[in-house]
Amino acid sequence: MTSLRPHVPKTYAAPTSGVTKHSSRSSTIPDTIYDKHTGSKYVRGSFLGKGGFAYCYKLTDVKTKKVYAGKIVSKATLTKHRAKEKLRSEIQIHKSLRHKHVVDFHSFFEDENNVYILLELCPNQSMMELHKRRRALTEAEARYYLVQIVLATKYMHKRKVIHRDLKLGNLFLGSRMDVKVGDFGLATTVTYDGERKKTLCGTPNYIAPEILEGRQGHSFEVDVWSIGCILYTLLVGKPPFETRDIKTTYRKIRHNDYNIPAAAKVTSDAENLIRNLLHPEPTKRPSLDAILEHPFVTAHFVPATLPVSALTVRPTFS
Ligand code: ADP
Repeated sequence: MTSLRPHVPKTYAAPTSGVTKHSSRSSTIPDTIYDKHTGSKYVRGSFLGKGGFAYCYKLTDVKTKKVYAGKIVSKATLTKHRAKEKLRSEIQIHKSLRHKHVVDFHSFFEDENNVYILLELCPNQSMMELHKRRRALTEAEARYYLVQIVLATKYMHKRKVIHRDLKLGNLFLGSRMDVKVGDFGLATTVTYDGERKKTLCGTPNYIAPEILEGRQGHSFEVDVWSIGCILYTLLVGKPPFETRDIKTTYRKIRHNDYNIPAAAKVTSDAENLIRNLLHPEPTKRPSLDAILEHPFVTAHFVPATLPVSALTVRPTFS
């Protein structure tokens, strides 16, 4: 069964000199951070954002001048065995992956107060910020993002990793607007052929019906379901099962109760692909290769690149 993520205070203190204290529960984050095993020294720069556990800052390696996204997790939030195990698993899975569409894992280390995870810095934030500014994208843009998300997922699945929380906020954008899948906090590794996962410690945003049902377990197909929710959100401008309360949303997911509004002017190829991806029966969803071979992708223009201006304004394709 799913369980909610641990509560984390919503507020964070403005940086002060020397250290930053986020809350009474978490410890302080120093201005200069040392990896005592490698001797590397990092200077903490601007705040990038916060997630379930982590505060994220720009960290600059003093020697190489390389800038990273530093995910900083207070040890004070890791008192429970389960929380420690989750972080250990996130690190272990993420560090085993290397792909142009996966956020690059640089290193991790700890000091007395915190665990530090150094990641490739994604300067154009996540697709959540893009979605909030642009809402419904053009189909050409959606195709551009979809192909890269599918390529990253093909790589993860080949490595037996199920991400389990593919969502706009975990799809970061590199300097050239390339998609980088991040946040392996809910990911798991399949250890034998046909394994069905029975537990999931956390709440995925685009949760698949078989996870809610819990009976037959779940596997790689949950990522295909999430990709369906992502494609719907990119084209329609809002998620397929969104309601004001989570219970109603879960009921709609279990009943496959969604519609594609006519006002969204989604083409028949796009609608057909969305319906296939959001199939209630996991085995009936398309394979990742079948997504790349679907007419929505193959019969229309897929941009090779997107301008950074597409973060705020609809691009024109000539
Ligand atoms: P958690 O695992 O605790 O949910 P996240 O991975 O979501 O933490 O990171 C928290 C926030 O930090 C993100 O919402 C984003 O704003 C920022 N962030 C995370 N990773 C990166 C990155 N590689 N580049 C830029 N910003 C990032």
